[in-house]
Amino acid sequence: MNCPECGAADSLCQTRFDEFLVLEFTDPSYGIVHNLTVCTFMVQHSSRMSREGWLYQRGLLRDFIIENKSPATIRKQIKDNVDSGKRTFKFKSKDGVPVINKTTWAKTILGVRIENAEVYCADINAWARATLEDAETITI
Ligand SMILES: [Zn+2]
Repeated sequence: MNCPECGAADSLCQTRFDEFLVLEFTDPSYGIVHNLTVCTFMVQHSSRMSREGWLYQRGLLRDFIIENKSPATIRKQIKDNVDSGKRTFKFKSKDGVPVINKTTWAKTILGVRIENAEVYCADINAWARATLEDAETITI
């Protein structure tokens, strides 16, 4: 069965995501796109988040891609928000029901090639950009 959320064949997206995380943690030349990998995967799999959580992830993706903010800058923003109690919403989904009803995307994680770090980072970027473009059309 294809993934009901991103449309990946045989629902291989989760397996691939887990493999990518291991790769990113063990090899820093792959790890530089870690923020994009996580954020993009989350935007495509909204059942893991609350509505606010999903909007927040999409905002993060926008920050990374459009505003070109570094993960360090974002981490500081998040920390400031948490410290000041600004983020009051819950990230995690309570019921596991997708908060968006999109099931087809221009690119999925299955299109990312891993043969070397250069190709990998370029493909993660392309996947993230395409996903943001798709996600920008969603109103929830
Ligand atoms: Zn999926």
